[in-house]
Amino acid sequence: MPRAYKKTKVIYRPLGKEKAYGLADTTRNTIELDTKLEGYRHLLYIIHEFYHIKHPDWSETKVRKESSRTARFLWDNDFRWVEIK
Ligand SMILES: [Zn+2]
Repeated sequence: MPRAYKKTKVIYRPLGKEKAYGLADTTRNTIELDTKLEGYRHLLYIIHEFYHIKHPDWSETKVRKESSRTARFLWDNDFRWVEIK
């Protein structure tokens, strides 16, 4: 039986002290993103941290490369963040 999909929780908070735009906690299945992220970098970092969760065996270099490719592809195809009101 396939493993059940557990939704990864995304938390927004200022990460200045951590000197990072994003953090991934594979044990807690949680991503933390800096509140200052917007536009392309927001898309890039949410994918980057998600890949850390989904592929804990990948190196930082591989996560960087793959997240950058995915973010670039989505951005070039006009995917953007929209505030839902
Ligand atoms: Zn990383």
